[in-house]
Amino acid sequence: MHLFTLERPPDLIAALALGADGPATEYIAGGTDMIPLLKDELRRPDRLVALRPGVLDDAIEIGARGELHLGAGALMSEVADHPDVRRAFPLIAAALLASASPQIRNMATLGGNLLQRTRCPYYRDAGVSTCNKRRPSSGCAALEGDNRHHAVLGGSDHCIATHPSDLAVALVALDATVHLRGLRGERRVALEAFYRVPGDTPEIETVIEAGELITAIEVPGGEALARHAHYLKMRDRASFEFALVSAAVALDVDGDRIRDARVAMGGVATVPWRLRSVEQALVGIPTDPVGYPAAVARATAGAVPRSHNAFKVDLMPRVLLRALEIAGRRR
Ligand code: SF4
Repeated sequence: MHLFTLERPPDLIAALALGADGPATEYIAGGTDMIPLLKDELRRPDRLVALRPGVLDDAIEIGARGELHLGAGALMSEVADHPDVRRAFPLIAAALLASASPQIRNMATLGGNLLQRTRCPYYRDAGVSTCNKRRPSSGCAALEGDNRHHAVLGGSDHCIATHPSDLAVALVALDATVHLRGLRGERRVALEAFYRVPGDTPEIETVIEAGELITAIEVPGGEALARHAHYLKMRDRASFEFALVSAAVALDVDGDRIRDARVAMGGVATVPWRLRSVEQALVGIPTDPVGYPAAVARATAGAVPRSHNAFKVDLMPRVLLRALEIAGRRR
């Protein structure tokens, strides 16, 4: 393993100062993704700055307008089990529970979850030299290789790696924003705009700037969307595994009609994939599965299947339809 120094700053400002100056620095919180990357020398920092315990905000709070504040240092398990989250934001709790084993959830933080690296096997194999995300301009082994798990949406000729976070799919559906903090101040970015599709620079995955950290996540008040919400995840095995196709659905239902709809999908795109055209088609129709297929048919617009992942184009509308049926049936 590449040698590094480990810093334990007393607070956030000290942590940010360490990231802004000096040798190549990486941050670590729960470490569930970073440790394997360090072991395999896929990340080679000279300095590692620990953000837990005590540096990152780990609060879980509902505000006066019903909005949810999640500190980036909160553990996945703490958020998934929190009674206010389960009651008012069940989509978030469900996505977290589907994400990882209890052992991982007990270590991993929300900030780390949102910034975890792709599970593209070529990215994760240091012996593979052609990976534009890891080595810019080296090529993409997945384009002509095994791309069964790769993206059919949002890809480019430079990278088709899927985004791995279930949580991000639920948060994008719910219009979450991330709070970013650097030494020059704080800014807020819609999570949907936080992630970048690969284009010709797949090594740049987000709009986070050097020296910035995610400090918190905010989700607008969601009581109206809470009752009819469902997160459905299809994967190769029933135990913990990354999504082949997942769907986050939340419906605001007035009587028997859909007043508002939120739909996002995971496992199919290079970023969490919000489906606004499907949402628009759902608004105003009854919560009757008869009406869903016409809306769901829009989900795969623009899909570009590769040699081994065309099944995702067939699976997407089926998963979405099933998630809508389950969400619409809830009372
Ligand atoms: Fe690398 Fe992206 Fe190609 Fe995977 S899909 S090998 S991460 S460039």
